[in-house]
Amino acid sequence: MTSVDDDVFDRQKRVRGWNQDALERSRVLVVGAGALGNEVLKLLLQLGARKITIVDNDSIVKANLNRCVFFTPEDAERGTLKVDALKREAKRLFPQADVLALPKLIEQLPESFYDGFDCAFGCLDNLGARLHLNAFAYGKVPLIDGGTTGFLGKVQVVDAPSACLECGLAKRDYKLLWLKYSCTGDEIDWLNPKMPALPTTTSVVAGMQVEEFLKLLFSQAEGAPKDMLEAAAEHSLVGKYLLYDALRREARVFEIPKRKTCPVHG
Ligand SMILES: [Zn+2]
Repeated sequence: MTSVDDDVFDRQKRVRGWNQDALERSRVLVVGAGALGNEVLKLLLQLGARKITIVDNDSIVKANLNRCVFFTPEDAERGTLKVDALKREAKRLFPQADVLALPKLIEQLPESFYDGFDCAFGCLDNLGARLHLNAFAYGKVPLIDGGTTGFLGKVQVVDAPSACLECGLAKRDYKLLWLKYSCTGDEIDWLNPKMPALPTTTSVVAGMQVEEFLKLLFSQAEGAPKDMLEAAAEHSLVGKYLLYDALRREARVFEIPKRKTCPVHG
């Protein structure tokens, strides 16, 4: 006789509306293997997601170690590729998972690459790559985009025909587009400081990103309970932007109007 304590996922299966099968069957894309990518991957693996593709062409440096749970000081010494370290640690800690590591820029992957995923997580540190992902994923796969700077975090969910990331861009953001932010120190415009980044904000934002994925996934599954469907319909972040401020301990949600002249779908 097996005890409930022998099932890794027993406690989460007790959550109303939980659908472990849907989670284990899902195909998930994580774009960016930095702080948010580490944390999103950790949560997906702990929850039992199995088919995960990670894209990033960057190498590990010491300054990554304060907020990237899967990277080691040896990785920073050797300059290990971020995606290789994630695949290695996923295999060691969660052997049932099938992690595909792609050491590429997201801009190098064709449109057909996005076919067949249930969700894409934007875990990027620069606006150019974010907008590329937004444009290519739109209409193909829901995008859950996260970002942090110091004590501030943001989560935005795009699921066509909703507004997209580009709909919500102010003119100021187009100027920032040309400034390359990076947590490695490479290719940084010398006029711009490195982005301030905290592991605490990273955990909160990554947690909210993965929760939005669970709501989307579970509410689409057969037999989803009424309260799960209501939460997904009335309180989802699709077409919205959540701004989290840890100092004020508040999270505000803004509706993003769909822009008729948006280059992605206008
Ligand atoms: Zn748009």
